[in-house]
Amino acid sequence: MDLLTVGTFARPTDDDALRTLQPTLGPDRTLLGGGTWLFSVPQPHLAGVVDLVGLGWEPLVAGVDGLTVAATTTLAQLADVDPSSYADWPAVALFAGCCEALVGSRKIQRVATVGGNVCLALPAAPMVTLAAVLDGTATLWGPHGGSRAAAVVDLVAGPQRSALAPGEVLRAIHLPAAALRARTALRKASLSPLGRSAALLAGRRDPDGGFVLAVTASLPRPAVLRYAEVPAAEVLAADVAALGETVGGGWYDDPHGSPAWRRAMSLLLAEEVRRELGDTG
Ligand SMILES: Cc1cc2nc3c(=O)[nH]c(=O)nc-3n(C[C@H](O)[C@H](O)[C@H](O)COP(=O)(O)OP(=O)(O)OC[C@H]3O[C@@H](n4cnc5c(N)ncnc54)[C@H](O)[C@@H]3O)c2cc1C
Repeated sequence: MDLLTVGTFARPTDDDALRTLQPTLGPDRTLLGGGTWLFSVPQPHLAGVVDLVGLGWEPLVAGVDGLTVAATTTLAQLADVDPSSYADWPAVALFAGCCEALVGSRKIQRVATVGGNVCLALPAAPMVTLAAVLDGTATLWGPHGGSRAAAVVDLVAGPQRSALAPGEVLRAIHLPAAALRARTALRKASLSPLGRSAALLAGRRDPDGGFVLAVTASLPRPAVLRYAEVPAAEVLAADVAALGETVGGGWYDDPHGSPAWRRAMSLLLAEEVRRELGDTG
């Protein structure tokens, strides 16, 4: 939809220009990633936007220590990464599944950005799931210079509540090589085949046997469980059930699923992930 109150539009083409604009960001002037959310709901408070798309950030940069995904990388670019190009990093196979968990057409995936998905902070944000299970670290540019690093899982404070400071820009997400060497599994539950995720769980089995489970969409904010080895079914079930008591006020409740159903799906999917990544899986 048109945003009729927006009177100023800036499209910086280099980092310095963006950094100059950052102090001007606030409730009435915001960042534009792909705009798939920003232009989907009325924004009567907005007078201006700063578009990130002209910055030309390299979508994916691989190094010995892992893979850095620019915030402006689109979901389509991530989904199109060929896992066979990263033979040492089997976890890359998770990219496409996480992108497909966002139930939008290819048209949406071609413009929706990784940064926009994380910063919007919906419980069903699959880029949060991906980063949560792979120990993703965000680089955040401060509104008045400087930068800080934060675990992506800590950037989601609650539904549509990110922990970014006003004017802060998510520049990139780093996925460490240690996590990318893992085998992974992904499970999703939704009320209809093409519905929004009501529970989205991703698991990781490290070469040293360690097991990590990210529980998302069924909770108001993401949770990560970690074990030195694949836990027994009862242990994992108890830990997943306990998340409903400890994380963000309990199992999430919205038109995409009731709390009781989300709890049940989280338990079911956690066990499926455990079995797939277990030695007998
Ligand atoms: C049909 C449809 C289905 C959808 N399904 C899902 C779904 O299943 N799960 C889900 O999570 N979302 C869903 N969405 C919402 C949205 O499209 C996605 O979350 C998308 O990834 C947002 O990315 P974007 O780049 O378009 O963000 P934008 O709309 O551009 O921005 C979203 C927010 O993030 C901020 N922002 C953007 N980039 C940055 C940055 N680098 N640093 C700081 N702040 C930034 C913006 O200011 C804005 O507040 C859906 C939307 C549609 C239309």
